[in-house]
Amino acid sequence: MAQGPKRIRRSWIPERKPFEQRAVDNSRFYNSRTWRNLRKRFLDANPLCAECERNGEVRQATVADHIIPISRGGAELDDKNLQPLCKRCHDSKSARERSGRGGMG
Ligand SMILES: [Zn+2]
Repeated sequence: MAQGPKRIRRSWIPERKPFEQRAVDNSRFYNSRTWRNLRKRFLDANPLCAECERNGEVRQATVADHIIPISRGGAELDDKNLQPLCKRCHDSKSARERSGRGGMG
């Protein structure tokens, strides 16, 4: 009961928020066991890269890619929003998305 009401307000210290956290942080999701299990199951069922298949190539898929990115409201754990991609195709898709210009015309 002897604790005095010592309130120290440091309102003059500006709150620091790292800029990286302004982007949608998906890392927690991608590290979750739920996602890893789904990814493994999906790649077991869909072992070939869908993008390469469209080009008549056969390449092993190593990435379960979200067709609609989670950051754009795509379903995280829905097979229908997933496609199997090899690393090469996934990297080029990511690069396209990062450039911010969709190829829709
Ligand atoms: Zn591919």
